[in-house]
This record gives sequence, structure tokens and C-alpha cells, in this order.
Amino acid sequence: MKRIYLDHSATTPVDPQAAELMMTYFLEYYGNPSSIHFFGRQVKKALEEARYQVASLINADPSEITFTSGGTEADNLAIQGAARARSGKGKHLITSAIEHHAVLDTFKYLAKNGYELTILPVDEEGIVSVDELKKAIRPDTILISIMHANNEVGSIQPAAEIGRITREKGIIFHVDAVQSLGKLPIDVKTMNADLLTVSSHKIYGPKGVGALYIRKGIKISPLVYGGSQERKLRSGTENTPGIIGFGKACELAGERMEEENRKLITQRDKLMNGIISRIGHVKINGPLGDKRLPGNVNVSINYIEGESLLLSLDMLGIAASSGSACTSGSLDPSHVLLAMGLSHEVAHGSLRLSLGRHNTDEDIDFVLEELPKIVDRLRMMSPLYHKAN
Ligand code: PLP
Repeated sequence: MKRIYLDHSATTPVDPQAAELMMTYFLEYYGNPSSIHFFGRQVKKALEEARYQVASLINADPSEITFTSGGTEADNLAIQGAARARSGKGKHLITSAIEHHAVLDTFKYLAKNGYELTILPVDEEGIVSVDELKKAIRPDTILISIMHANNEVGSIQPAAEIGRITREKGIIFHVDAVQSLGKLPIDVKTMNADLLTVSSHKIYGPKGVGALYIRKGIKISPLVYGGSQERKLRSGTENTPGIIGFGKACELAGERMEEENRKLITQRDKLMNGIISRIGHVKINGPLGDKRLPGNVNVSINYIEGESLLLSLDMLGIAASSGSACTSGSLDPSHVLLAMGLSHEVAHGSLRLSLGRHNTDEDIDFVLEELPKIVDRLRMMSPLYHKAN
């Protein structure tokens, strides 16, 4: 059976060039980058090259990049690290209702431990209002964390506008850019970001690697103590093959972004328009056009269960997701869709199709041919559908 992977927001395959390079650092250059002998020096050089490659993709200086075990750790380091380092200045924190759990749960943990938290609502397209954010700022606000692009509905947030406000007020601005890295141009300077999280496995790099951009001069406290690696911000022997693979993936993503986006946008719009024209009682979740990530399709299909839809698609070889990949397995409706005003029932019937580098036009045609048949079949069995129609 031909398998069609449409879950690139959950993770991506490793690019063969990155994988090949990594093999060298597993098998040949296996030294510890902290060692001063030849083996160590070779790896140290490659590690610094990777730091440069990651920095280049977001217009940062290599010295502003701290490698971590992924986006989750970078989010934790940013939020806990900044909150602790600044607690003398205030205890008020702001984030949005559509953040990834790596951000939301970290804030909720802090809120249980002496900090005060404001969670901003979003509009029906999944976008944070800058006016609401301005209203929420208090004299004791020390940190604002807003994602660059949402992992479920692809909504792109007004990060640069928020950055202008936070910089003016001297509040630390953290941006979770896990979903936008390599897909949208990121410039930490024009965005006025103080801290910015990226992850390797969403951009055809290996899993278990990420980084936090920390603007020069911004002080944060570490989460992990030990051998003082990464300028004492993240102790522990570096995952050198992973970091080097991540660096290569960043370089490739930068080179390919424009061309890849043209293809993804065409395929995304074909898929969205095709679903709307072939299936009744559906609603696209998230914004349209350039406020949406190039490869993201999210649609609520009324009167059916997202999980049954996923299973039926899987039987045909189509891999998709019904919410955030990190929370699927739990049957709670997506907090993002609920924050956008969807009912529990409609949120449960939502489907995310995230396109990537290797998807072809034939993949899209196949989904457009099969999805309406699956929906028809599931609706035939749905008491909700019969009651309403
Ligand atoms: N932030 C966002 C927006 C994400 O989509 C994800 C993963 O899905 C993460 C953070 C966590 O990143 P990682 O899987 O590298 O820990």
C-alpha cells in the first residue's frame, strides 16, 4: 500500500544529507567537544558550525544560540529561566490560550509557585489581539510568551508588533517558533525577540534536539546544573550528531524555503478548496492566505468523530492528526479549537493535514478522492447526523 504522510507538524523525516553527516559524527568523529585532543577539537568545530547554521536562519549571532534536547526543553528554559532571573522585578506573566503545552504547562506550574498568570484569549481565527495584550500588561509584568505560528491551525501571530511593545516596556519577550522555523522568514531583530525557541525535528532534522536563542545581555537561570556546557546554561555532554544534523537541516531549510513554500501553498489551497467543495457541513479552522502556515490544513467535519476519521484514513495509508500530535492519545478536545470558540462536539470532529517537502499533487488528489467517501460512511453511522438532517 502506498503511504501518504500528512503529519509534518508532528514530525518530519530526517533529510538524507543531514542523516549522512550525522553518521560521520556517530562513527568517526565521536570525541567529546569539551576534550582538547584531536577527537574533541574536530567535533567542537562541527558543533560551532551548527551553531552558526541555526543562528543564520533566524538572523542571530552564533553566541546567542544554546542547544537543548528539543523545543520542550527550550520553552522550559526560556520561561522558567526568565521568570526566576527576573522574579525580583515582578511576578506577573502573560501568555496566550493557544500555546503548545510545553509553554502553557510551564506557566501553569509557575502560577502554582508564586507567580501570577494572565492567559490571553484569541479571536475565531486563532490570533492573539495586540490590544488585549496591551491591556493585560502591568507594572510588575516580567515576561510575555506568544508563539510565532500555531501548531494546530497554522495561525501566524503578530510577533513583530508584540515585540515592539515588550521592548518599549522592558518586558522579556519569548517566542515559540517551533512551527515557523524554516517555513516563515524569522529575524529575531525585527521581531524584537529576547528569547526564541526552535526545534530540529519539524524541519527535517533529527528528534531530541532544539535550541533557545537568548539575546545578548538577557540573563536567564539554567534548569540543569553540571559540567557548564553551553555557557553554563545547559550542562551535559552535547548531543553532537543531533546538533550537527540540526545545523545541516537549518542550512537546507533556508536554501529551500521560498521554493518549498510556493509548492506547499498551492497544495494546501487545493486541498482546502477541494474539501470545501466536495464535503458538506465543514469549516476551515484558522485564517486563510498569508496569515496561515504554508503547509497547514485544519478542518472541522461536523457529525463525525476525529478519531474514527483518523483510523479510516490510516487504513488507506493516509497519516493525519486530529489535534496536537503531542496530545493525541488523550480524547480531550483541542484547547486551541476551544479557545477559538468551537464547541466540544465540533472540535472533536477536526482533522489536521500538514503537508511537507515530499508530498506530491497525486497525494492531494488521492485524499480528495477518498476523504468524502470516508465522511459519507461515518455520517451514515452517526446518530447526530441523522438527527440534524
Ligand atoms: N512548541 C510547539 C509550537 C510545537 O509544535 C512543539 C511540538 O509539537 C513543541 C513546542 C515541542 O517541541 P519538541 O517536540 O521539540 O519538544
